[in-house]
Amino acid sequence: MKQDQYHLSKVLNARENRFQLRNTIAKSGFNSLSLTLNIPGYPKSNELLSNLFTQILDDLLIYLQANRIVIENKKEILRVDEAGDFYLVKLKQNKQTDLQKIKQLTEYFEEKHKLSRLIDVDIFNKYGTPVSSGKEKPCYFCGEFSAVSCMRNKRHSHTEIRAKIFKETSLFLKKISKEKLIRNICDFAQRALLYEISISNKPGLVCFEGSGAHTDMNFFTFLNSTSALTPYFKEFCELGYMYQGELNKVLPKIREIGLRAEKTMLLATKQVNTHKGVVFLFGISLFSITKIISENGSFSDSEFQKTVKKIGKDLVKNELQHTNDSKTHGEKVFHTYGKKGAGIRFEIERGLSTIFQTSLPYFSDQLKPEIYVNQTKLQQILLQGLLKIMSINNDSNILYRGDLEMLNYIQKTAKISLTDPKAYKQLKNYCTNNNISPGGSADLLAVSLLLHFTKTENHEF
Ligand SMILES: [Zn+2]
Repeated sequence: MKQDQYHLSKVLNARENRFQLRNTIAKSGFNSLSLTLNIPGYPKSNELLSNLFTQILDDLLIYLQANRIVIENKKEILRVDEAGDFYLVKLKQNKQTDLQKIKQLTEYFEEKHKLSRLIDVDIFNKYGTPVSSGKEKPCYFCGEFSAVSCMRNKRHSHTEIRAKIFKETSLFLKKISKEKLIRNICDFAQRALLYEISISNKPGLVCFEGSGAHTDMNFFTFLNSTSALTPYFKEFCELGYMYQGELNKVLPKIREIGLRAEKTMLLATKQVNTHKGVVFLFGISLFSITKIISENGSFSDSEFQKTVKKIGKDLVKNELQHTNDSKTHGEKVFHTYGKKGAGIRFEIERGLSTIFQTSLPYFSDQLKPEIYVNQTKLQQILLQGLLKIMSINNDSNILYRGDLEMLNYIQKTAKISLTDPKAYKQLKNYCTNNNISPGGSADLLAVSLLLHFTKTENHEF
């Protein structure tokens, strides 16, 4: 009991300080706005509640700005005291300032929020008096009576109300962090595709300046395809975030999203296959990235490779070895060249080891923040990344259109091209003259960029 009184006096003391702060603003002739959380019992704040407060404050400041409610943001007060988390700011004066209207708007903000009954946005006029709309807030716990009525009649214990608050806050923050993560990863996925198509002067591949070895697609076909695929990235991420089952059973679920994505892609490109390989690789990669981060709170290369390997276990055996009538490109190439012609399925089985040996370490060394503003340098680095992949990748696109001799020549020339511009010219001419497009390597480049952005730019998780 003694301790309760001790806590109560600390809380009352903090409230008195807040009252003084508001009065100081009122005395200088300004209205003010404050944000607090309505937490019964003690302590009034902890890490969870502070995180909630920060999130609500961010939303509130955007809401105020959107509704043209101008605050003196240089004079804002943000603190945690014994009465909990607290934000106070001066409202900028204006002759037409209608405090009742502001009160109504902030009440609407409170009501539409998922945890509305916890949030108190208060408006004080320049006499230091609270502006009231006369509305009574419903009780957080039961929602049946007004908050004041339940408090006066002691209908619920602090312990049971606090348990409900902590549970709901935790769920709310988890949802927010999931949404932020998925938004970020989808941003990186789309950006990776835009970067790949924007690299100039690629050998045999579609660029802004020309279509390389292709006659049925151009730069804009790739823009259409990228835009069409973007909404599906979110679905791969959602699946990865929620998936609890065994990894070697998830591929049909990833494929189902992938096939729908592919259908939309073909509609957008007038039936031209621009990103079929990317859909497969991104499906597995986006799934793996969000699964790893949702479970571990961070991303790691080794976890990524482990996850991809588990998803792709026996992929070549199951999907290429047992087919008798070779119909698809992948099957035909595999039957002619064996594992060397097993394409991206083999790549997945090995945990995308080609990019972990080539482009990824190169990008972590070279793609520093200052590079992104230097377009010439950025173009050079991205192209080198592609050449590094081409120098070891058994690109089944090349084997399908050409043969093993061509693949060997391209791998060798790509390696020399890294340091020799003459060899690069030869490589480009060779691809154009022989109608060869290293599309498989371009797909792996896009995956490398997706992983690089995830590793270097995601600060939200
Ligand atoms: Zn109640």
